[in-house]
Amino acid sequence: VHDYVIIGAGTAGCVLAARLTEDPSVSVLLLEAGPADRAREIGVPIAFSKLFKSEYDWDYTTEPQKQLNERECYWPRGRVLGGSSSINAMIYIRGNRADYDAWRDAGNDGWGFDDLLRFFRRSENNSRGESAWHGVGGPVDVQDLRYRSRITDASVTAALERGHRFNDDFNAARQLGMGFWQVTQRRGRRVSAASAFLRPATGRPNLTVHTNTSATRLVVERGRVVGVEAVTGGRRDRYGAEREVLVCAGAVNTPHLLLLSGIGPADELRSLGIDVVADSPNVGRNLQDHVAIGASWFTDSGRSYDTAETPWNTARYLLGRRGPYTSNVAEGGGFHATDGGDLPDLQLLFGPTGYLRHGLEAAPGPCFSLGAYLLTPESRGTVRLRSPHPGDKPLIDPGYLDEPSDRQRLLDGLRECLAIGEASALSRYRTGRFLPARDDENSLVEHIQEWAETIYHPVGTAAMGPAPTDVVDPALRVRGVDGLRVADASVMPTVPRGNTNTPTMVIAERSVELIRTDPA
Ligand SMILES: Cc1cc2nc3c(=O)[nH]c(=O)nc-3n(C[C@H](O)[C@H](O)[C@H](O)COP(=O)(O)OP(=O)(O)OC[C@H]3O[C@@H](n4cnc5c(N)ncnc54)[C@H](O)[C@@H]3O)c2cc1C
Repeated sequence: VHDYVIIGAGTAGCVLAARLTEDPSVSVLLLEAGPADRAREIGVPIAFSKLFKSEYDWDYTTEPQKQLNERECYWPRGRVLGGSSSINAMIYIRGNRADYDAWRDAGNDGWGFDDLLRFFRRSENNSRGESAWHGVGGPVDVQDLRYRSRITDASVTAALERGHRFNDDFNAARQLGMGFWQVTQRRGRRVSAASAFLRPATGRPNLTVHTNTSATRLVVERGRVVGVEAVTGGRRDRYGAEREVLVCAGAVNTPHLLLLSGIGPADELRSLGIDVVADSPNVGRNLQDHVAIGASWFTDSGRSYDTAETPWNTARYLLGRRGPYTSNVAEGGGFHATDGGDLPDLQLLFGPTGYLRHGLEAAPGPCFSLGAYLLTPESRGTVRLRSPHPGDKPLIDPGYLDEPSDRQRLLDGLRECLAIGEASALSRYRTGRFLPARDDENSLVEHIQEWAETIYHPVGTAAMGPAPTDVVDPALRVRGVDGLRVADASVMPTVPRGNTNTPTMVIAERSVELIRTDPA
């Protein structure tokens, strides 16, 4: 029996395992469904999409999306030590102050931006040095890209030509503007939650890690979660938790596990023959995700990463960790407010590649692309049970673009990409438009219906809040049972304006203090 059992060694789970075991008197068991993070592609930044549909991916598919030609959209999610941080695009973005202040103002004390800044800084080791905004000496290396395509530089120049301001640091006072991302990398290699947090902690006698071990059910006795049932290979085991079970399985698997364990909407559970442990109406509801659309141009400049896999570039990487292989592909971009105000509602991404269907489909020739995604979607979706069997994937319905205002703003985003892509700064790299082929409104709407895809930021399916119907309270304790907490992307009440890895890390950092002061 351990003090804490953590389910899921992803972004949040690795932070929790490392921070909790800093106290030698506390024992922790970390269970991870996937294998160790040994694949070479995990370390090599440009290769992240080669991990899609591999043994390191849960390989989810959404329900048919009404607004997207009834397409079933592919959702990668990391299934490996490090979780999605081992397969993600490494962009380091915190979101907007207003995102966290809205969480706080909704009744989540301690979750405002000023409350969280010290946790952001604590995790960070920023190569630009310490400042009021940034930390040094933390476990997560945050660096500027070692290599950028000239197409990305020209894309940023084209955006400035369009009237956007240059932004040198999206994680400081001002989020709006265009520029180049900082990434979670160290000298040209990926930094994941596993490499940053877990690896340095693995020697500790108070930390046990089981890979290839899937939690299938929480064990509840008289209203208290006392352990976890899990499967390793064909073997079923039970792991006891003296103090708490901490669920860090991500925005899809966390609600899935709660539902399988009888914590969720009572009618939904009963209809599948699951005994209701706690009637919690919002488990698996409130799903939010960032949906993206791109525009692509052909280029014969030799600068597209569609042709980057060469012996020369391989040698540059192997010998000195230099060149395009150190790139995270989406090298630049920025934040834009369609209403002209201070709060962005679109994020733009610039990458010297076609990146069709998550890079799984080859473009007919070398391309570069500019993409936009909606930061503040009004549409909401669900994660529900397909069956009471843990091995069956859950039903995921993000409800993409169900709200008309979301459709309008994504269309605005696509138009912005087209305007930037056609600006003169990119003329020397453009040999012709690939997608969309035409610019009239109908064609653009059809382009979105055919090509919009996730940009990988699902959150909100076990959201925190002060109401009795909110899944977790502001200390992240699951309502309706004792001894259980959720700390991962599922607890976000609303998706922040930006990529979600760093916000998830900060949720985990803060949860450690909550675990110490407010036991579940
Ligand atoms: C392709 C891709 C690109 C992305 N790009 C970026 C980016 O550039 N920048 C950024 O900030 N964010 C990015 N993100 C998003 C970011 O990585 C995630 O928001 C973040 O990793 C979520 O962390 P988490 O802890 O909630 O879940 P995860 O990191 O997904 O961790 C969940 C872990 O739990 C394990 N697990 C699940 N169920 C069980 C079970 N039953 N038993 C045991 N273990 C289980 C999983 O295998 C996994 O390891 C990207 C994500 C993807 C997929």
